[in-house]
Amino acid sequence: MADKLTLDANGKLVVPDDVILPYIEGDGTGVDIWPASQLVFDKALAKHGRHVTWMEVLAGEKAFKETGEWLPEATLEAFRDYRVGIKGPLTTPVGGGIRSLNVAIRQLMDLYVCLRPVRWFQGVPSPVKHPELVDMVIFRENTEDVYAGLEVAEGTPEAAKLRAFLHDSFGWELRADSGIGIKPISKTGSKRLIRAAINYALARNRRSVTLVHKGNIQKFTEGAFRAWGYELVKEEFADRAVSWDDCGGEPGDRLLVKDAIADNALQQVLTRANEFDVIATMNLNGDYLSDALAAQVGGIGIAPGGNINYVTGHGVFEATHGTAPKYAGLDKVNPGSVILSGVMMFEYLGLQEVADDITRALEETISAKIVTYDFARLMEGATEVSCSEFGHAVAERI
Ligand code: NAP
Repeated sequence: MADKLTLDANGKLVVPDDVILPYIEGDGTGVDIWPASQLVFDKALAKHGRHVTWMEVLAGEKAFKETGEWLPEATLEAFRDYRVGIKGPLTTPVGGGIRSLNVAIRQLMDLYVCLRPVRWFQGVPSPVKHPELVDMVIFRENTEDVYAGLEVAEGTPEAAKLRAFLHDSFGWELRADSGIGIKPISKTGSKRLIRAAINYALARNRRSVTLVHKGNIQKFTEGAFRAWGYELVKEEFADRAVSWDDCGGEPGDRLLVKDAIADNALQQVLTRANEFDVIATMNLNGDYLSDALAAQVGGIGIAPGGNINYVTGHGVFEATHGTAPKYAGLDKVNPGSVILSGVMMFEYLGLQEVADDITRALEETISAKIVTYDFARLMEGATEVSCSEFGHAVAERI
């Protein structure tokens, strides 16, 4: 009988053979992408004697039409209760209510890690000469920074009040026509994010963790993130990890933890891609870095993501692209982002063989130049297939 995920006494996820997982189909192209992805997932699960009972939950336009709410409480409750699920892209409602459904899900469930692995798949068209050197995993902090939504608009009484307070209490002079935003970066938020990145790197024998920050300018937020990271290495990982300064860049058999200033990091991920492995950074830097890196490997259409709370076990895996409304229902777009988000989800659940089979089948399909329009237009000699045909082509190779 299908059952829920549970956590054992050590906080490890226990996955029943037939596990119930909630999914959000997604707006726009979600109607095309989800069935193609589910076909692939079910084939790989069946091969390894596993089954997922997919439970649809609503969010976005479909939810609004059926319930009058963009993000019904029942959906959040299902993700909390069943712990791990997957979602397609969601329209951000314009003009009021929740600012972004994606940000809301992350914040309401305290999914503090946005995990974005970025690697190249043989045959995928790329704008750089050596996309094969890109094999990085970004841990982006998901709950703080300028994404906290603590902003007041120019010309409002709130902005005037805040400006007066800053003037009276700190002597800070801000222009009268300023909008003002607050950038909170906490020790708690930083350390739990960096802890997750180091644990991930150690568990997978990765070479290094780079803390990316703008601490030379923003000393008490981004600079503190860096300092807390190095403090954490000494406090909790002294036997397994070492900072650059403490080993002169020669970590021996320990994991190397180093740091890079964000602007420099953005150019070095292009010029010295092989020096970056796991990256831990704050929300806004992580946003820029994820898309810049995904573009290097040609992967905007296939870049996967996961939002995770490693303490409670909760995880929501998701397409990183949007709803591409002009292609909705045309059976045209690339389902790769949701398929690879599924790979991340199965890895997270410990179903490594299922994840590996899907990755291999996807690699073989792209190598055979069987691709959707987005890759076909950049590849010579490609066979362009529809979204559903691509799903079938991957499933056949499992
Ligand atoms: P978008 O939906 O990501 O589409 C931008 C372009 O990216 C598309 O026109 C298409 O490029 C390409 N693309 C997107 N998905 C693709 C796929 N599966 N396969 C191949 N190519 C794909 O971005 P947007 O138009 O800025 O946003 C539309 C809506 O999505 C907005 O409501 C936005 O808020 C929302 N959004 C949601 C998420 C999310 O749910 N995670 C993320 C971003 C945006 P070509 O035109 O070149 O073919």
